[in-house]
Amino acid sequence: MDGFKNPEIVSNRLKDMRSLREQIPKMPCIRCGEVYRGYEENFICSSCLERERRIRDNEIQRRRVVKHLLEESGVPKRYRGAELKPIGENQIRVVEYFRENFIYKENIDKSTDILIFGSIGTGKTYLSCGFAIEFIKKRLLDVKYTTEYQLLNLFFMKRYSEFEKFRDSTVLIVDEIGKRELVDWQKIQLEELFSHRYNEMLPTIYITNLLQAQFKRFIGERLVDRLKENSIKSFGFGGDSLR
Ligand SMILES: [Zn+2]
Repeated sequence: MDGFKNPEIVSNRLKDMRSLREQIPKMPCIRCGEVYRGYEENFICSSCLERERRIRDNEIQRRRVVKHLLEESGVPKRYRGAELKPIGENQIRVVEYFRENFIYKENIDKSTDILIFGSIGTGKTYLSCGFAIEFIKKRLLDVKYTTEYQLLNLFFMKRYSEFEKFRDSTVLIVDEIGKRELVDWQKIQLEELFSHRYNEMLPTIYITNLLQAQFKRFIGERLVDRLKENSIKSFGFGGDSLR
């Protein structure tokens, strides 16, 4: 033990240790290229490992959010695999607008409402569900799909908290508007819901099999004025049925 007190011995020991260390090969981290000494092949340094762990955790978290939003979206089972892939001119225009108006727009408050009208079987539902799925995956925000009937039925069944989830969703898609004649309370509820969304600056996608003029008659003068004020964007889906 006395040897440790001798400066010469200490310095020799240190030299030995240094030379031993220098015998260990230099290994670059295969991620960042930083060189360390070690024997490990395909070596990854601790800061790269840490960064990769964080990315992995974020991805797990992101998937969890997407899964939850999809489950809550109301997109029917049949359309869970729907993609935002347009067929034909009409659909291309709608898809471009969906992306421009919702997916790339930073502030959803500034998104306009959309009306899609056209005969049954022209792919309106498929495309809007495809949009909902893409919107959730890209923006991690909630969008809900429902039909006029489902909405009014929630209200009728006094399932108000579910009704409110639709009413207050960031983007709401209401399909099959005007499919049947509505009685007064239904008209009032529907108008209230659309007005609420208008006032809260929550964009709505209206889908109907009615012609544009019929649709306007159906939802009433007051709402039509508001939609115009909100510079609603209309798209007509005509042409041959996809079914
Ligand atoms: Zn590294």
